[in-house]
Amino acid sequence: MIYSGPSVSVELLDDGIAELKFDLQGESVNKFDRGTLEDFGKAVDAIKANQDVKGVIVTSGKSVFIVGADITEFTDMFKLPEEEIAQWCLSANKVFNAFEDLPVPTVCAVNGIALGGGLEMALSCDFRVLSTKAQVGLPEVKLGLFPGFGGTVRLPRLIGVDNAAEWIAAGGQHKAERALKDGVADAVVAPEQLKDAAIALVKECLEGKIDHLAKRQEKLEPLKLPPLENMMAFQTSGAMVAQQAGRNYPAPMAAINTMQQHAGMNRDQALEVEAKGFAKVAKTPQATALVGLFLADQAVKRANGAHIKKGAAEVKQAAVLGAGIMGGGIAYQSASKGTPIIMKDIADSALELGMKEASGLLERQLKRKRIDGAKMAKTLSSIRPTLNYGDFGNVDVVVEAVVENEKVKKAVLAETEAELKDGAVLASNTSTISINRLAEAVKKPENFAGMHFFNPVHMMPLVEIIRGEKTSDETVATLVKYAQDMGKNPVVVNDCPGFLVNRVLFPYFGGFGILLRDGADFQAVDKVMEKFGWPMGPAYLLDVVGIDTGVHAAAVMAEGFPERMQYGFKDATTVMYENERYGQKNDKGFYKYELDKRGRKQKVVDETTYELLAGHVGERKEFDEEEIIARLMIPMCTETVRCLEDNIVGSAAEADMAMIYGIGFPPFRGGPLRYIDSIGVKAFVELCDKYAHLGGIYEAPQMLRDMAAKDESFFG
Ligand code: NAD
Repeated sequence: MIYSGPSVSVELLDDGIAELKFDLQGESVNKFDRGTLEDFGKAVDAIKANQDVKGVIVTSGKSVFIVGADITEFTDMFKLPEEEIAQWCLSANKVFNAFEDLPVPTVCAVNGIALGGGLEMALSCDFRVLSTKAQVGLPEVKLGLFPGFGGTVRLPRLIGVDNAAEWIAAGGQHKAERALKDGVADAVVAPEQLKDAAIALVKECLEGKIDHLAKRQEKLEPLKLPPLENMMAFQTSGAMVAQQAGRNYPAPMAAINTMQQHAGMNRDQALEVEAKGFAKVAKTPQATALVGLFLADQAVKRANGAHIKKGAAEVKQAAVLGAGIMGGGIAYQSASKGTPIIMKDIADSALELGMKEASGLLERQLKRKRIDGAKMAKTLSSIRPTLNYGDFGNVDVVVEAVVENEKVKKAVLAETEAELKDGAVLASNTSTISINRLAEAVKKPENFAGMHFFNPVHMMPLVEIIRGEKTSDETVATLVKYAQDMGKNPVVVNDCPGFLVNRVLFPYFGGFGILLRDGADFQAVDKVMEKFGWPMGPAYLLDVVGIDTGVHAAAVMAEGFPERMQYGFKDATTVMYENERYGQKNDKGFYKYELDKRGRKQKVVDETTYELLAGHVGERKEFDEEEIIARLMIPMCTETVRCLEDNIVGSAAEADMAMIYGIGFPPFRGGPLRYIDSIGVKAFVELCDKYAHLGGIYEAPQMLRDMAAKDESFFG
């Protein structure tokens, strides 16, 4: 053994070939944390000092190669001044350079996932052999960053500007074949041949059959193309990236600009430019939010893991009551992820529609080659449509998704419970009815909870698991596990009107109503909120949700929180409702919906909306962007704080993730609570005070005032 550390070891194999192995002790994967970087540096020093080493292969002791940098270390590091972040990159790069400059040939054997820093490590080798199982990429842009361990320098010099721009700016994860095609890999072999292939390549270098120094030299020099061609390549890539990423995601464009800036430089100068650029993007609010999002996602997964540990039962057979929009979607999702499901309705025609919807979704997947015919047949056969309770005695979980009517739901729940075996879990997909009230209908409320899916079920990642006062930990555990098995991201919440997501969404719609009352143009509001980052503005969103659904849910919220959510005037949404403009479902709401040439529904401006609103809303008035954003976002953010204050949701991370997964809160803003952090809690409270005259939804909750007084934030 030439070197042995806590994450890297170097062993001399036969013929003077050393194996540098990444194997982070006490972890299931390799990552570049501070310790690993330090260890890597020592390993390189040990190789340099050993005269017997004639060549090096780099391997991993895990099933992955290296998953990337340790993102948990980013939060603190990114608080440092820009200059210090750049220095940190440069000191890390010294290690990669020292490795690249070893006087012997180096070959990386990439066995599995090599992302971010993992791939940058491989790029600092002379050659890369990939296993057919390898997955490689530079996904830093997804965190609002770009590669900072030499990726923007080495990749374009190895594979050209066009390819490098695509790999870096799109942040994709690629299979070995694609890496070979684009020149990131030099060879792809079967997993069992990987190490031998890497050794063979080192030997060919030693025998002079391959000129590894020439290959290495490409990475040390400026880009090869003449300046004009380079400029054209950067311009084309830049235009494409600007169009795709948009102004809310600056990292991809910053990566292209950085590559262009250092194109004419040698490696060491170029790395300085990269480090400066990296430090700059690391300080953007987008990077803070997206890194925070990654960590919040992990926190939610940990919280769910803790729930599951409290006694999740295995769901071998599920059932859904109702074959409508939601029931059909739930049946499809459960079956396609491997849990067979019985779909019960009271009407044959509904069952037929439910099955048609499922087969339609499967056919689309088949067309896109995501599944094959066998998978389609298997999925369809594991949805069993029925009009009676025949096999309900074998069912582990039942999700009720019948019409949104408390009386009907209570009757259906009581009737279903009588058919179930001991310990089976019963859940309701209600969007507005109290879980505690529905629980009154069942004999075993401990086995009952809410399981709130979002429409369309196959697309929307969130499922709210609603714990009633009497719901047992085991019931929550089983539903969390079942939701995960269905490929969803569950968030556990306590019962209250609107649960978490709708409770937070409806004050936002409330703010929208007040703004229109005061004279704003709904189209202008939509434009501002879409520019802010929402996938659709509030008027369009109400049309998609359904104006009737929106009006009904708003009434439930007003009853539940009259002090804040009874607004005391007829809002624009109610005017739409009274004129039977229900949104996309009948092709008329705030907007009109018409089919385009490809048969897809398109939103069209409808002047009659303004005629209908006249007399109900204030005289048209211009509002600046800042005010529109404040008037809509304050109610949403304050209500999220209240949910935390009232213990409806367990943590800030879960609250933020639920809003991102559930209603498409702009990810680069990190969620309502991180958005408050980005403004500053104190400044946000001042903003609330400025608008408090508009009503209770604008008042700062006590929790925020306390945090402001103590100078605290949600995410530290
Ligand atoms: P839907 O009207 O499309 O479907 C309801 C189905 O239930 C119909 O097929 C009906 O025949 C069936 N049904 C009625 N009584 C029944 C009974 N006794 N036994 C079995 N089936 C019965 O409604 P939907 O939009 O699918 O909504 C269902 C539930 O999901 C509601 O509680 C709703 O609030 C909730 N939800 C809906 C959405 C949405 O966007 N549509 C989103 C989240 C939650």
